[in-house]
Amino acid sequence: MSDKPEKLITDDGLRLDGRHADEIRPMKIEIGVLSRADGSCYLEWGRNKILVGVFGPREAHPRRSQRADTAVIRYKYNMASFSVEDRARPGPSRRSIEISKVSREAFEPVIMAELFPKTAIDIFVEVLQADAGTRTAAINASSIALADAGIPMKGLVTSCAFGKVDGQIVLDLNKEEDNYGEADFPVAMTQDGEITLLQMDGNLTPEEIKKGFELVKKGCKEILEIQQAVLRKKFETPVEEPEEVPEETAEAEIEVLGAEPSLEYAPAAVVVEELIEEAEELEEELSEETVEACAVDEEAPECEKLEELIKEAEAEVVEGEAIEEVIEAEIEEEAEEEAFEDEADFEAAFEASFEEVSEPEEIEELEPEETVSEEAEFEPELEEFAEEEARFEEEPEFEEEAGIEEEPQLEEEAGIEEEPEFEEEAQLEEAVSEETFESEPDIESEAESGEEAPAETAVEAEEEPEEESRGPWKVVKDPSESGSRGENDE
Ligand code: UDP
Repeated sequence: MSDKPEKLITDDGLRLDGRHADEIRPMKIEIGVLSRADGSCYLEWGRNKILVGVFGPREAHPRRSQRADTAVIRYKYNMASFSVEDRARPGPSRRSIEISKVSREAFEPVIMAELFPKTAIDIFVEVLQADAGTRTAAINASSIALADAGIPMKGLVTSCAFGKVDGQIVLDLNKEEDNYGEADFPVAMTQDGEITLLQMDGNLTPEEIKKGFELVKKGCKEILEIQQAVLRKKFETPVEEPEEVPEETAEAEIEVLGAEPSLEYAPAAVVVEELIEEAEELEEELSEETVEACAVDEEAPECEKLEELIKEAEAEVVEGEAIEEVIEAEIEEEAEEEAFEDEADFEAAFEASFEEVSEPEEIEELEPEETVSEEAEFEPELEEFAEEEARFEEEPEFEEEAGIEEEPQLEEEAGIEEEPEFEEEAQLEEAVSEETFESEPDIESEAESGEEAPAETAVEAEEEPEEESRGPWKVVKDPSESGSRGENDE
């Protein structure tokens, strides 16, 4: 053991390693350093070097150690014989057993062990190099390793010690300060500030403890920030950078984007939106009236009429939405076709594509068949749609079921001249549902027929290179670099 230095705090108020009283030693953390552990961490804090491996939750052995209601947390602190100046005796000692116990208890309030009954969560700590504060360093490293292992925790645990050196309260003692100081006071706390470890070696007054706690809180806050930064860097999902497009293509795309009106503001789209809104409003009003009328007299004549009107309004909504889809598809198609043409040509073509639907009356006149054929162009899997149309025509019962007979009368009563024929509406509705349900059998039939396309896709997907693991990395918070504090590490 080195001789006692004359002073532990110099005349200018600095400690022997150059730190101020309220400064922690530089900390360096690597995460995921052990491939066989579920979680691991290597931590350097000043001259301390600590390695932690976490295993579990895994079946607890021996079985008699299992607990039916919770996981068993086991913490093993071990100091390598070469970690200290004088050779440490290998194997458990009173000191290592004590440190293992208090450190386990420091984690018990945060680890959600009740989620894993009959299992064990093992935390193995190896002190490779010791320079005072190894238990606090090990707790900080264990917290990271537990998170790396994915053990559910209510928060991280952070640990730091304060002590009394040359009559002064200082934060995070080093070896000389620990050996020759008057007191050593290790503390661990959750990120919410709840104390989970508190020990004292030496003599301190209540005022000194109070002052020391202020320092420890500050130290733990700094350590928590380092821990969080390490974990964030390891587990944060990287934001995907947009692919770089060649300059020419990019310019062309910008032109198209500039020229291409959004569906939201396209005149035809606005008309369709209005159409849908009106129909929906009508439906809401009618619904209220119907409810009131029917509440008074279920057989009231207007009750029946109004119900019919509601059906018509609903049908109009369906058609309006179908037309909107067609417009959207047209806009997309036009934009693609004209992407690299002259801007004037593009505008002309674009306007032409809207002529059919620029007036509300014209939109109303769109035949459902046209709608279907337009959709079929964009959606090849809807080829069977034509067959469906044929089936509708062959099924006269369908019209009867839909109550088409009352349709002309209704139109007169409602005075809605633009009302599309119910048969067409029904077809549209049916088309929409067919679109939904027909696509699945397509996939199944492909799979049954043994076509290789989906398989190839799967293989391609598998062959795609996995996102490169970023592997272990380091976060170094070296206060000496910031100029606010410093220690000349070896
Ligand atoms: N130490 C040592 N030999 C031992 C135990 C401890 O040299 O057998 C040194 C070691 O550097 C350790 C320091 O004494 O860090 C303080 O030990 P303490 O028991 O206070 O625990 P710690 O501060 O490491 O948590």
